[in-house]
Formats: sequence, structure tokens, C-alpha cells
Amino acid sequence: MQGLYLHYPFCIKKCRYCDFFSKPLAMQETDEYILALLNEICAFSAYYDWGIFTSVYFGGGTPSLLSSDKLQIIVEALYNNFSIAKDAELTLEANPGTLTLSKLKAYKKAGINRLSIGLQSSSDPLLKRIGRPHTAAQFIEAYNFAKEAGFKNINVDLMHGLPGQTLKEYRDTLIKTISLQPEHISSYALTLSEGTPLYADVLACKETMPKDDDIFNMQDSGIALLEQNGYTRYEISNFAKPGFYCRHNQNYWENGVYLGLGAAAHSAWQLCFNARSNWTRWSNPADLNAYIGAVKAPLNERAFEIIPKAEEMFETIMLGLRRISGISLNTFKTRFNTEVTSAFPRAIEKLTVSGLLEIDHNSMKLTSRGLDLQNSALLLFMDERQL
Ligand code: SF4
Repeated sequence: MQGLYLHYPFCIKKCRYCDFFSKPLAMQETDEYILALLNEICAFSAYYDWGIFTSVYFGGGTPSLLSSDKLQIIVEALYNNFSIAKDAELTLEANPGTLTLSKLKAYKKAGINRLSIGLQSSSDPLLKRIGRPHTAAQFIEAYNFAKEAGFKNINVDLMHGLPGQTLKEYRDTLIKTISLQPEHISSYALTLSEGTPLYADVLACKETMPKDDDIFNMQDSGIALLEQNGYTRYEISNFAKPGFYCRHNQNYWENGVYLGLGAAAHSAWQLCFNARSNWTRWSNPADLNAYIGAVKAPLNERAFEIIPKAEEMFETIMLGLRRISGISLNTFKTRFNTEVTSAFPRAIEKLTVSGLLEIDHNSMKLTSRGLDLQNSALLLFMDERQL
């Protein structure tokens, strides 16, 4: 699998908890940005033979602020410059309040076959409290438009651990979401990020976050509810009906190759130049003007970073253990020419004895207690990296 990510950084307004690279919509900036993105598509396609992409993901920001004409121009540029598999998954992140029926029909015609709609909560007071620019009713309208436009693969993004959120409110949101029967549901615990207005309010005691135990209760109760309703938990925060795992994200969790275009986008690729093959990472500036400047400069001026093998191994463990099925021992051995048990013997022994990790004939995965304590488990692997 190999993924292509495109970042569209504009939003209606900034949510109070958000630390992604996004900025309020300014029309004159969007045209300049799209031009830079189109130039970057051409530059990267000429730079390397990227093979065949199996997924394309428009993330943000709010890519559903793109008019259908502009989205079509970008998608056409992708198909003209890269090889994209016939059955590729093409996802677009969307926010309620930015979608109309005609826009969704045009998105579908342009090739988008998966939508990821950000609801976060079905409580209007809570949406207001975290600064979301939409209501729960606008989400229902957007969801119904998406169904009417013919989308058959829809994810709904939810959050738990929001300020003032109760278990009852979270369960209500889940029950209402499940009643719509989307193919996929994600529910992430809110991370309180330094520098955000919400963080400042919590520091100033103007806002209260739920206690850790309450967040765990929401998570456990949510997992049970989703599983009772036919959604398989296949990653810590992701649930899907059979056949609807997100292909693009699965590639990330396999520590697979991906090319990221647009401001703040990250890339990782096994680049091969002059018969030398290296696991390489690079990222674009998280600033509009700096990004536009970087696109005008030759590509070899980008800061390509060669990742040492030990770091690549640790990243593969860190990402793979997010999946409920864990890491394939054979795949690890084929990639690194060593057994995972030889690369991290002490971490594996300690975690297995304490009941946080289990190994069977071809997989290594965290137990359900291990999933709850994932960060502590990863620290042991990190300590054992041989840099
Ligand atoms: S819509 Fe998403 S990217 Fe935009 S400000 Fe809100 S959380 Fe951030």
C-alpha cells in the first residue's frame, strides 16, 4: 500500500482545542495556495518514480471548503501526474455546514469515494463550548446529503474527554451516530494542547476537563456500545463495519510509504538514489508563505532526513501496536531481516510477563489492558532502541 496525502489548511474558524496547521478562510490566500499545491504535484511527480498509490486523502483544515470545481482541478492534476490504482480509496475530510447536495454530487463525480465528516459531539452546547462552527442538526443534514449523493463509505469523527462532557452525553452522541449506520466511526480522546485557547482556559480555571477515570469510562463504554452494534475496533480509536477499514490510515499504522503535499504535510518513503535505498522522512513548512516559498525552490533543497534502522524499527512497533491485530512477525522479519524478539527482547519479556503484550505464532499485539497503557508500553521499546 502507498498513500498520497493533500493538506488544505483553511477552516471557517479555529476550534478552541485545535493545534493542527489550519487558519481562518481568506479567499485571496486560497487561490494562491491551490496554485502552489498544483505546482508541488508537478514537481514531485517529476522528482521520483512513486509507483502506484492505493489511497488519496484530502485532510485539513477543512477540505470540504473547496468548491467542487477546484477539487476537480486538483484531482485531475493528481491523475495526470501520478499513477493511482483503479480501486483507490479517495477520502475527503468534511465539516457540517460546508456541504450541499450539489457539491457532494460533484465531489463524487470528481472521484471522491469516502467521506470523513467531523461531528465530534451531538450536543450543541458542547459543540459551542469547544468552538466548533456547526450544530448537530447541520451534521444530520450533511450526512443525509452524502447518502443522497450516493456515498457508500462514510466515517463520522467523534471525540470524548471534552470539557464538561459526561458519560451520558457521550453515549447519547454514540447512540445517535450509530442509528445513522455509517460504515466507520472514529472516536479520539481530546488531547489538551499547549497554546490553544482551551488550554489557556483550563490553566486559568475557567474550564474543567473530565477526570482520567471518567475518560476511561467513556472509552470503555463506547467500545462496548460500538461492538454490540456491529462495529469492529481495529485500531485504538477506530471502528468499522466489515470491509470498511480505512485503507489510508492502515498504511500509516503499517509504517508504510506515503507522500504528503501541501503546507505542514509529512512524507515517509524508501527513497533509492545511486543504488542506495534509505527510509527517508521530510515535511513541508507549517506556514502558508514559507510553504509557497518552498514550492518555488528546487526540490532537493527540502530537508530530507534519513532515518536510522533502529528508529524505523521503533516507529514500526509504535504504529503497529495501535492496531488491535498488532504487528505481523513475518512482515517485521522480512522488512528488517531480524526477529522482533531479537530486536527488543527485554521490552517484550517485561510486557508479556505483566500481561500487557501477547505473542502468538505470527503476531505481537497489546492486550486490552496493554492498549489502555500503550504509552508506558512504548517507553520500554523506546529505551531498548539501539541508536
Ligand atoms: S475544523 Fe478541524 S482543523 Fe479546522 S480548526 Fe477545527 S479542529 Fe482544527
